Amino acid sequence: TNKFKEGLAKTRDVFVERVEDLFSRRKKIDEDFYEELEEILIGADVGVGTVMKLIENLRAEVRKRKIEQPSELQPILSEMIVALLKGDEKSSLKMASSGLTVILFVGVNGVGKTTTIGKMAHMFKSQGKKVMLAAGDTFRAGAIEQLEVWGKRAGVDVIKQQSGSDPAAVMFDALHAAKSRGVDILLCDTAGRLQNKVNLMEELNKIYRVITREVPEAPHEVLLVLDATTGQNALSQAKMFDEKSGLTGLVLTKLDSTAKGGIVVAIRQELQLPVKFVGLGEKIDDLQQFDSEQFVHALFG
Ligand code: GDP
Repeated sequence: TNKFKEGLAKTRDVFVERVEDLFSRRKKIDEDFYEELEEILIGADVGVGTVMKLIENLRAEVRKRKIEQPSELQPILSEMIVALLKGDEKSSLKMASSGLTVILFVGVNGVGKTTTIGKMAHMFKSQGKKVMLAAGDTFRAGAIEQLEVWGKRAGVDVIKQQSGSDPAAVMFDALHAAKSRGVDILLCDTAGRLQNKVNLMEELNKIYRVITREVPEAPHEVLLVLDATTGQNALSQAKMFDEKSGLTGLVLTKLDSTAKGGIVVAIRQELQLPVKFVGLGEKIDDLQQFDSEQFVHALFG
């Protein structure tokens, strides 16, 4: 919870302070009150559709419970946000019941994919798991070296080929190495170039097929990494990687760098995918499994 609190400091400072100020300053629940609340929520990237729904629900509660003081509405708003963040899906990762678990990471360049893989390698390693990385971004200059740096930092092996080689071949190698070395979890990096979307999707499909052929239940997770600071842009990226690429969940990075933590709510509402992890800084242990209650508690608690 402390990690969440620290990581969400910017959002707390701007968004939560404005909300708290509104609830204490206003003495009446009137149209001006709702309008200001709407503005604050939209400003925090909660998403227009979701904001409308929240305000509707608040109005209904006010009528039903005959609430007169704005301050009484604050816990109700927090509860509503927790409810919005809850889904049927568990935020934990799916693991192989026995043998190798394969997790594929996708996302455009710069969102924090490599960093997230490094952090996750460290997390699993601290849990006593044997972890390996596959350098599947053979396209971007420096991507392989950067993954190796994270591999060293986390103390795990990295399987790579030369820059420019076929990423599916890298995956093939990595899967075989992982199986023969008794690895528990293989974390696979992929390219995030946007210049040729069709090409990229074909490349991802090919990687997917190789993985499935080698390990029938894999990939156990396909995680789309999104940068929280890009706001609504993150949503359009997610739509681009759409359901066809077999996404199973999201990692939302750089929440510490934005005051617009409301993006978590927008993402939860507009995409049918659970946020499984959030990035709360650049260091190796700045990754947290997402927990909606802890998240809202860190904001308002
Ligand atoms: P990739 O191109 O998707 O692999 O992105 P990188 O992993 O190279 O990350 C791009 C930049 O974002 C780097 O400077 C990282 O240190 C930074 N970054 C990644 N995750 C986080 C995070 O959770 N918080 C902050 N503040 N920075 C992050």
